[in-house]
Amino acid sequence: MRRVCKAILGPLSDYLEGQAGEEVCRRIEEHLKGCKRCQMHVDMMKVIVTLYKTWRDVNIPDALSVRLQRIIADEIAKTSKRQKSKSTRRRR
Ligand SMILES: [Zn+2]
Repeated sequence: MRRVCKAILGPLSDYLEGQAGEEVCRRIEEHLKGCKRCQMHVDMMKVIVTLYKTWRDVNIPDALSVRLQRIIADEIAKTSKRQKSKSTRRRR
């Protein structure tokens, strides 16, 4: 997975957890508007964080969470493929 830009790398985990201050949030969102690479990365991270929180609440057995991890990895692969084909736009 590609890394995000240095500019948002530090506060990103706080942002994803909803712990970042208003100013930090604004700075990250400003950066995301102009940077597609980070946008994709943050979208993926948001999905992962949301699902991770859900697992923690539900307290899923290990075997099942492994399966879920695979499903998530699959979803992420699909999402990034979809976004890639959108930006290349070779076929109609
Ligand atoms: Zn960036």
